[in-house]
Amino acid sequence: MYERFRDKTCIVTGGARGIGAAIAYRLATEGCKTAILDIDEYAGKIREKEFASMGLKTIFIKADVSVEEEVSRAIDDVYKTFGSIDVLINNAGIGFSGKPIELQSIDEWRRVIDVNLTGPYLCSKHVVKYMKNRGGVIINIASTRALQSEPNTEPYSASKGGLLALTHALAISLAPYKIRVLAISPGWIDTSSWQIPKREPKLSPLDHRQHPAGRVGRPEDVAALVAFLASDEAEWITGVNIVIDGGMTVKMIYIDENIIEDSIATLIGDRELASMIRTFIENAKEDKEKVKEILKKALGNR
Ligand code: NAD
Repeated sequence: MYERFRDKTCIVTGGARGIGAAIAYRLATEGCKTAILDIDEYAGKIREKEFASMGLKTIFIKADVSVEEEVSRAIDDVYKTFGSIDVLINNAGIGFSGKPIELQSIDEWRRVIDVNLTGPYLCSKHVVKYMKNRGGVIINIASTRALQSEPNTEPYSASKGGLLALTHALAISLAPYKIRVLAISPGWIDTSSWQIPKREPKLSPLDHRQHPAGRVGRPEDVAALVAFLASDEAEWITGVNIVIDGGMTVKMIYIDENIIEDSIATLIGDRELASMIRTFIENAKEDKEKVKEILKKALGNR
């Protein structure tokens, strides 16, 4: 592969699993010395071994991005090991299992903000001293949830919205040092093949079809964009957010099986029956003729 990052060094937070692992892999295969910072020691060590067995220069360092002392120590360790830091990918993040705002606890709010927003702030703060004299790139992995929402996702959406603002603030502050700062906002990315252990994707044809690009996203899609934006080819791009979502945010309506089920429940006023109808429709895909027979019998002459 074309080695755009030969003699460069990067840090990928949350690089043990999911999108971060794909980013770490992509940058390492393009010649970058890659440090994975992650709270998950088990996954991090497995990933480090796996990449080493492919001849990639990768180290794993355990750190919680929301804890300043851990971040500062980990970044110093990367510098001691590799002698430079050129690229920081603020990818570590946690989701929020949706519940109405009245039931959200302040601790839940704080944890999401701490990891998803304070984490990138701390990592950027501690990496700057190593980038100041040679330039660098910081890429924040935000989300399309920074721009649009489903119900009951306040902590996550707010953390990612804050990350977009942090991105342009840093881009302006750090421009004099030739440090570019960017955000990438992915849409729906299926990370099963980058988990430890790998999982089978659980995606339906409808999941894929509702994307204008025809499929759900893959971690490799995000990694390819990161590699371009982190490279010198993107030297005139800074301060902006780039959406990568297969066209979903510019589409007027999201449709998924839950919405269909909700619509049926609204129509007939019975959640249990709506759920049964949804299961029935899903099964109908397998044996259409049998289902037609059942419906003909049930409907009679009506
Ligand atoms: P994931 O859960 O598969 O991986 C997240 C990684 O971050 C894990 O390795 C985890 O151990 C690590 N991590 C979590 N908390 C940490 C902490 N406090 N300190 C250090 N490491 C920590 O998640 P993912 O789906 O790959 O998401 C990666 C990033 O992309 C997140 O910021 C997420 O918000 C964003 N994102 C994901 C999607 C998606 O559909 N998967 C969409 C938009 C944005």
